[in-house]
Amino acid sequence: MSVVLFWKKAVLGIGKRMLDFVCPPTCLSCGADIMAGGVLCSSCFASLRFIAKPFCARCGEPFALPALGFGTGVCARCREVPPLWGRACAALIYDDAARRLIFPLKYADRSSYARRLAQFMVRAGRDILNEPSYLIPVPLHRQKLRQRRYNQAALLARCIGKESGMPVIIDGLLRQRHTRPLAHLTIAERRDELHDVFQVKELYSDVLRGKKIVLIDDILTTGATAEACTRALLAVGCQSVDVLVMARACAGDVDIAVGYMYAKD
Ligand SMILES: [Zn+2]
Ligand SMILES: [Zn+2]
Repeated sequence: MSVVLFWKKAVLGIGKRMLDFVCPPTCLSCGADIMAGGVLCSSCFASLRFIAKPFCARCGEPFALPALGFGTGVCARCREVPPLWGRACAALIYDDAARRLIFPLKYADRSSYARRLAQFMVRAGRDILNEPSYLIPVPLHRQKLRQRRYNQAALLARCIGKESGMPVIIDGLLRQRHTRPLAHLTIAERRDELHDVFQVKELYSDVLRGKKIVLIDDILTTGATAEACTRALLAVGCQSVDVLVMARACAGDVDIAVGYMYAKD
């Protein structure tokens, strides 16, 4: 280590310890004071349901029993109607505890949460992130971007890029128009609502041809948005698209997740 780097690290370390003393770190979920270096208090951490193997190799939904993978590692739903994307992976099951963690980033202007949440995603998505790929976030329509001032998926993608060393194309996909909430629509209505909504920005069509993509979003509920983004990416010749999200709705929790989405959108 060079002398300059040594002193830089030492000064940053002292600065961080002083900051923790003056302004102790707080739990991302409930705001309680926590030990330096942590992101959640012990009770919020214990309430989260992290997704661990065995889970479906295609959609990332955990199996209640390993035998439900039918020996293929793929759930019955994905065997019946395989998704367009290759693999989807989520850090958490989307429930009340996950909602408390994610909503401040999504709706309460807590953009600083992105770095911490991205660390959970990098850990969950290590199998997906160990191949050279471009990270592309699910885009917001510009009207929503103006209201919210930032795209939470783009912030997560940027942070995951920093953690993993993968290149990020923040504006790789464009959302052509504002869409209705999808939660209570039928499959056919969702398809109509999302028809041609997403497009790869023309500037990147050549760059992305033949490349592997990891699509980044905060929550996977119906999967329709990720599917529409995947369709747009494959249409310009991307080799494959995998999906990495912070949390995903699971069979027993879909109604709850849909309720949250509907209430906020
Ligand atoms: Zn807490
Ligand atoms: Zn599946």
